[in-house]
Amino acid sequence: MTNLKTSRSIRSLAVSALLMVCAGAASAHSDAAGMAGGFMSGFFHPLLGWDHVIAMVAVGLWGAFLGMPALWLLPVVFPLVMTVGGALGVMGVPLPAVETGIALSAVALGAVVAAALRPPLWVAAVLVGVFAIFHGHAHGTELPNAADPVAYSLGFVMATGLLHLAGIALGLVTRWPAGITAVRAVGAGIAVGGLGFLFHAW
Ligand SMILES: [Zn+2]
Repeated sequence: MTNLKTSRSIRSLAVSALLMVCAGAASAHSDAAGMAGGFMSGFFHPLLGWDHVIAMVAVGLWGAFLGMPALWLLPVVFPLVMTVGGALGVMGVPLPAVETGIALSAVALGAVVAAALRPPLWVAAVLVGVFAIFHGHAHGTELPNAADPVAYSLGFVMATGLLHLAGIALGLVTRWPAGITAVRAVGAGIAVGGLGFLFHAW
């Protein structure tokens, strides 16, 4: 009996891993309903979905670029507002063009890094916050179907934080002139990546 149970759970693990990879590759949220599981699926979804990865890394990059206090404020604003966006999704509050919003977030956040824009802190926070709503809402709508909604959300937010940290770490090279050029180039790459998602090029 125990063996049977073990092989069954191994099989379901393999299936969910496969589903996560598919979800990441397709990065479409419209047909991802019912994909949400527990902590692991929440944790791996942003890491495997390039539309999330590039936008979330861009938040960290921009924070590092702007320096204190944006360095810590932006990576705190994003997950917080993302949770609000998720709650709106759970409540069934409609948000138009979620996919477009996520793609635009990469375009805009990549572009501000590429352009080395330094707006007032509140402008940066509002921009980051507005886009975070889309990233949260895309998954809030499927949350009620999740095996463990709280664990899924926790995993999702933790992975988001890690992606911000990766962006910050990458952005630390802006201390050197050559590093600034490199980070701006990465920002441009992120913006182009977002454009690709926007026009379904990949
Ligand atoms: Zn997603």
